Amino acid sequence: MPRTQLERARAGETTPSMERVAERENREAEAVRAAVADGEAVIPTNHAHEALDPMVIGADFATKVNANIGASEDASDPAGELEKLHTAVHHGADTVMDLSTGGPLAEIRGSILDHSPVPVGTVPIYEAVVRAGSPEALTTDLLLEVISEQAAQGVDYMTIHAGVLMEHLPLTDGRVTGIVSRGGSILAEWMEAHGEQNPLYVAFDEICAVLREHDVTISLGDGLRPGSVADASDAAQFAELETLGALTDRAQSAGVQVMVEGPGHVPLDQVAANVKRQREVCDGAPFYVLGPLVTDIAPGYDHITSAIGATEAARAGAAMLCYVTPKEHLGLPDADDVRDGLAAYRIAAHAADVANGLPGARDWDDALSAARYEFDWRRQFDLALDPERARDFHDQTLPGDNYKEARFCSMCGAEFCSMRIDQDARERDGGMERTDHEVDLAASPAAATNLPPAGTHDTSRTPAWPPDGADSDDADRSAGPVDERPEADD
Ligand code: SF4
Repeated sequence: MPRTQLERARAGETTPSMERVAERENREAEAVRAAVADGEAVIPTNHAHEALDPMVIGADFATKVNANIGASEDASDPAGELEKLHTAVHHGADTVMDLSTGGPLAEIRGSILDHSPVPVGTVPIYEAVVRAGSPEALTTDLLLEVISEQAAQGVDYMTIHAGVLMEHLPLTDGRVTGIVSRGGSILAEWMEAHGEQNPLYVAFDEICAVLREHDVTISLGDGLRPGSVADASDAAQFAELETLGALTDRAQSAGVQVMVEGPGHVPLDQVAANVKRQREVCDGAPFYVLGPLVTDIAPGYDHITSAIGATEAARAGAAMLCYVTPKEHLGLPDADDVRDGLAAYRIAAHAADVANGLPGARDWDDALSAARYEFDWRRQFDLALDPERARDFHDQTLPGDNYKEARFCSMCGAEFCSMRIDQDARERDGGMERTDHEVDLAASPAAATNLPPAGTHDTSRTPAWPPDGADSDDADRSAGPVDERPEADD
């Protein structure tokens, strides 16, 4: 009996999740079904995740953004993680990954799943290492146990680093930055210690059987991704990619939905070629990329170095972007870092959607531009990707209500406001046609994705926030630190 969206799509069934996704993307349900059936799109939707509003990840749909949350050994608890979930969803994350490595892991994950309207991903090997006590103490049985428990709990997608093989490890010897993926480094240590093949590779069919049962999407991890531009596109990276291609086919044959993770650090001129190669090797399976960072010289600004690569990757066909925050390589991000990281990545995703001609994507730009030319400041703020920041920045110098009607801002001043000068000139010269563009976003072909600031989410399903009696702005500002994967790993 078909268990997964992939199996049901292949059987010709249009599921309620496909219909919901079609509604959100303004597409025909049949187009969604066909993309899922072909393995070119996934709908991560665990049967047990009741709070989920289904979404789709695929190159033919709006580019999606993931944010990482999770408790560390030092900090956090279920309430703290709910705060992080709220922060991520509020600022437009399409999925979240719970990368917890400390605290009551199952309780934290259960709380996130109970409240998350977006798909929740995990990297099960993290919990397995915590429970084993060290990478060397991992066993296949423990890995399968953790994967089974997380699947039964409702996790929608899991990073599984099954493509890192013993024979690939020597290929990393000449690298500048070695193995930077947390999962990759754990498995490399295990293989060196035991002299045996990657247990996730050996047990791959058993893992797929568990994932199929609950319709958990597998996200094939790139354990050997480059951690510096010097290591990009090297033999180790592409050897693993070949294995990921074969595993994509095996997982899909087992009825499991598949996406594939990608690098990392890649010079700008190599990004598109990397995406093209992944899509060929993995037969069009959705590509989920971390950045990539296009230069290594800007610690403190890696949300920018990586958003440049992410834009190029999405332009070339990557389906989902894992955000990177300004704290990358430096420390644990706080709520402001999460906000900055998500803004950078939502810009990257939207810029690529506009450039790729996604129907209706540019309507948002056109509506904001029209409001800008009309000096309709309130509408500009409402339409902005981050309305709170746009309003704050404007009001820092011109806070009064009267300035919400002003035909200038403090950047050029009243005298030199070029748009005011241009409009006055057009009014004086009857021969000059006045621009007057009204864009009805509600009628846009991309209406559901053109509703800032919530991105593609149905905000009515977002967990209630703040808790009773708290002020929402204060709650946002007080959000605790948010974990990231090392190298925004896995
Ligand atoms: S003052 Fe300058 S920046 Fe401000 S609205 Fe006019 S043209 Fe734009």
